[in-house]
Amino acid sequence: DDTRIVTPEIRGDEIDSTMRPQVLDDFVGQAQARANLKVFIGAAKARGEALDHVLFVGPPGLGKTTLAQIMARELGVNFRATSGPVIAKAGDLAALLTNLEERDVLFIDEIHRLNPAVEEVLYPAMEDFQLDLIIGEGPAARSVKIDLAKFTLVAATTRLGLLTTPLRDRFGIPVRLQFYTVPELEHIVKRGAAILGIGMVEDGAREIAKRSRGTPRIAGRLLRRVRDFAIVAGVERVDRELADRALLQLEVDGAGLDSLDRRYLSQIAVNFGGGPVGIETIAAALSEPRDAIEEIVEPYLIQNGFLQRTPRGRILTPMAFEHLGLAAPSRPDA
Ligand code: ADP
Repeated sequence: DDTRIVTPEIRGDEIDSTMRPQVLDDFVGQAQARANLKVFIGAAKARGEALDHVLFVGPPGLGKTTLAQIMARELGVNFRATSGPVIAKAGDLAALLTNLEERDVLFIDEIHRLNPAVEEVLYPAMEDFQLDLIIGEGPAARSVKIDLAKFTLVAATTRLGLLTTPLRDRFGIPVRLQFYTVPELEHIVKRGAAILGIGMVEDGAREIAKRSRGTPRIAGRLLRRVRDFAIVAGVERVDRELADRALLQLEVDGAGLDSLDRRYLSQIAVNFGGGPVGIETIAAALSEPRDAIEEIVEPYLIQNGFLQRTPRGRILTPMAFEHLGLAAPSRPDA
């Protein structure tokens, strides 16, 4: 019903969860990742063994958490979730690990933000399903080994480069997620509209899909905002025109870029002559954290041909200038 969606105390991700696919066959897109996971899950089940540890890599909102939940469900095991920054001490991780049952899935989001002391505990746990704990201090200190259930660690990161090599090497199944295509997002929007009871015309779904930055989470968010517009406008079905009006009001432009994307591009265009310019300089000029720019802003701009990352710095493409309605500088060295 309508009131649930607009009730502010309902957190975004609880609404998300109504749209979250529950089984691998309902998960749209990521065909290669899905096919591989299907094989590995099938094999692990046939052998009655824990699935090898899985590492999902990719920008936020592409379905890493969703896939981890689906894996646990398909394996028929418990799903426990935490995240790198939440595990403050080695003891916190030890408590989580000792509570796992055979073949359970432990999901650690943002694994690149694990503190090094905690990471040390994770190594033997992943490799030998053992905890090495030091009890006591000084000369009386002794090490105790505790056997753990054979579990599966499913971890997610937006920044593979920030993972230490020993940690990265301990994942048997690395999976890189890609931005979604427009037809895939259109499918997700239509499915979401059906679940949320939103009347949706074909070209309305397509318009939202085109402007979702290749990301299902954004597609879901835009869908709900467009729905609010439809309710206020007293319109029963969302078509292209309504979607377009709503998205412009939300400052999502025709290429699906939001205001931060456009600030980023025009900063480089106007203040740095289109580049090359270093990431630190851009971050300072925008007063945005470098991490957020590298994780959220740049991957999509690069993928879609607005930006190039070179050893000398970031360079705007002619397409970016065109998008901004600016003349591109002539660039003899490009
Ligand atoms: P991540 O963990 O990569 O940040 P999530 O798994 O939390 O992303 O997904 C974000 C939202 O997008 C979820 O609410 C989910 O409903 C939706 N979603 C993600 N992937 C898909 C997909 N392939 N099909 C449909 N919805 C998806």
